[in-house]
Amino acid sequence: MPPVAKVEPITTARALRGPFDYLRPDGVGIGSVLVVPFGHRDVVGVVVGLADSSDLPDERLAAPRRVLEHDLPADLVELAGWIAGEYCSTPARALALVSPPPGGRAKLTWWATATAAEPAGRPPTARQRALLAELPRAAGPDLAALRRLEARGLVALEQRATRRHVAHEQVGARRAQPALTPDQARVLAEIETALRQDRPEALLLHGVTGSGKTEVYLRAAATALEQDLGVIVLVPEIALTPQIVSRFVDRFGDTVAVLHSKLSAGERRDEWMRLRSGAARVCVGPRSAVFAPIERLGLIVLDEEHDASYKHEGDPRYDARHVAARRARQAGALLIAGSATPRPESVHALRRLRLPARIDGRPLPPVQIVDMRESSATAALHPDTSHALVDAPKAIVLLNRRGWSNFVDCRSCGHAWTCPQCDVALVLHRADGRLACHHCGHRERVPQRCVKCGSMSVARHGAGTERLEHDLAQLGHEVFRLDADVRDPGVLLRRFEQARRGILLGTQMVAKGHDFPDVTLGVVIDADGTLRFPDFRAEERTFALVAQLAGRAGRGPGGGRVLVQTMAPEAASIAAAARHDADGFLAGELGRREALRYPPFSHLIRIVCSATQGAAVGEAARAIRAQLGDIPGASVLGPAPLFRLRGRERAQLVIKGTDRARAVRAAGRAVDAVAGDRTRRGVAFSVDVDPQ
Ligand code: ADP
Ligand code: ZN
Ligand code: ZN
Repeated sequence: MPPVAKVEPITTARALRGPFDYLRPDGVGIGSVLVVPFGHRDVVGVVVGLADSSDLPDERLAAPRRVLEHDLPADLVELAGWIAGEYCSTPARALALVSPPPGGRAKLTWWATATAAEPAGRPPTARQRALLAELPRAAGPDLAALRRLEARGLVALEQRATRRHVAHEQVGARRAQPALTPDQARVLAEIETALRQDRPEALLLHGVTGSGKTEVYLRAAATALEQDLGVIVLVPEIALTPQIVSRFVDRFGDTVAVLHSKLSAGERRDEWMRLRSGAARVCVGPRSAVFAPIERLGLIVLDEEHDASYKHEGDPRYDARHVAARRARQAGALLIAGSATPRPESVHALRRLRLPARIDGRPLPPVQIVDMRESSATAALHPDTSHALVDAPKAIVLLNRRGWSNFVDCRSCGHAWTCPQCDVALVLHRADGRLACHHCGHRERVPQRCVKCGSMSVARHGAGTERLEHDLAQLGHEVFRLDADVRDPGVLLRRFEQARRGILLGTQMVAKGHDFPDVTLGVVIDADGTLRFPDFRAEERTFALVAQLAGRAGRGPGGGRVLVQTMAPEAASIAAAARHDADGFLAGELGRREALRYPPFSHLIRIVCSATQGAAVGEAARAIRAQLGDIPGASVLGPAPLFRLRGRERAQLVIKGTDRARAVRAAGRAVDAVAGDRTRRGVAFSVDVDPQ
């Protein structure tokens, strides 16, 4: 074996780039995790390569301090290298993503075995004999008694790692495996064919809400497991979608491991180790589960593939969907992306399988557009909506704005309360008597009088979920509010599930994959709210939000209906969602994207410069622009100013290019060159490939 190990230290410093050479201890290979001396300290590093010789003189080649017990599969090391390049990050940061969860130790318990020794001296008591007869076993509460036997040489005690069992919440009744519908059977047959191939083509499972996609995933996973292949199931947010976890655990039991942030460090470690050792072969989790250490991976399922939570908002700004596709290709595994509202990108790139109807053939609920342009400006609810809510025992109401009112100003002088750190309006949260910034978390007391003119007359504009909750409660409804201000969404969802009557009110969180058969009414308030964002995905988001919310209603025998309040009834996304016309929407949207050269017809890369001083930001952004020069097949937009965030002025440039690799390389080089200049120390740079 080559005597040199190339080690990438896991540090966040951008300037520091390995790998660095060390002596290779016996048994160390690619993926081994080591503690190595590095400058004046010890750091954890991952072996990313082996070499026969080093450029360092022998006497400077240091030996690692120790080798840690867990190592990374070599394919994940390779994947990390790819991520570092693909997202203009560093190998160390990418390796940190695929490394075992930090912290958490093996849980050790005492294990007792009987020795072969004959008892010397007085014979064991009856109780001691009984104890000896039960060995080997965990010591448990008998440790003290066993210690006395150990002192006599009759018992050997050792510490063993034992697994912490993750408690899974049971959601809904345990269900036996149902017979597939003809549509499901047809789709599954295609999937099973793909699973038998060496390099299967990725598939898009486009099935309307309630068409039984989860059952298809379960069957596909069963087939993969029969072939001794591992499975990763990615879900948007565990707290909001406990149903799918519980269905996988129900079906496959202990071979399912979950990886998510609600686990303790120890539990996460144990689940990771179970996957690494092969004791568990299915991993269910949010975006980071795409890095599950599964060998012989055969299937990756991406549930609700349109969900924005698949994008990671820290460096590396990876998109789990893009990483999943790469990992599947690398492993020769099948990727199935599923959604009722797939992204235009996925429709464009993947072969599509359809589940056109709901299970039991129940129709999708009729959707009525409520034109708010004729309604009085102050009331959040149209009279039609108020009446419908009285008639429906259980309803879901979506208002994608939390807080009480989204804007506070002075009636006398017009002074508006904005965040001191960010150039945005503060949102009133009445229950805790504060104004809050939804971007940086800044909070201040609700003003009694204007800070500018002293007037006592402060006006509140717009309504958020907190205000609507209050209004609905005043009308006598029982309201279950679900938004980012709620501490435990899972508990709230269960309370709503068990209630006989009530309204589940909240932000886009209420439109996730919930399956509540007794909800007969869905309401969207201010459906065009998402359209007002200046973003090429605004249409796609609006369509998905309305269509997904519509998908939550009328899932049971009671049927259902949906009301969509909007100031923009003729907007293509809203009109198409009201017709349940995903194909019409996607065709129109793809046409628009092609004409404007937006993804999937180009790749976008966003570079943001930020600093406390506006002048430094402008200078740095212009320097980046100059460094980028002319990129063949790409155009560069900006620099353009962004609103101030967390006390930092910002400017952005967007590269829009057809040659992805070339554009990414250009961005990385430009940022390295500009950031490397010491005079720009105070400026931070972030590169976002495929921004959301
Ligand atoms: P989707 O994920 O497509 O929205 P689900 O997987 O949640 O749909 O399925 C909707 C409901 O139909 C669930 O309650 C599920 O248990 C049930 N279901 C799925 N497949 C079948 C089937 N073949 N026969 C009977 N019920 C089914
Ligand atoms: Zn004033
Ligand atoms: Zn702020």
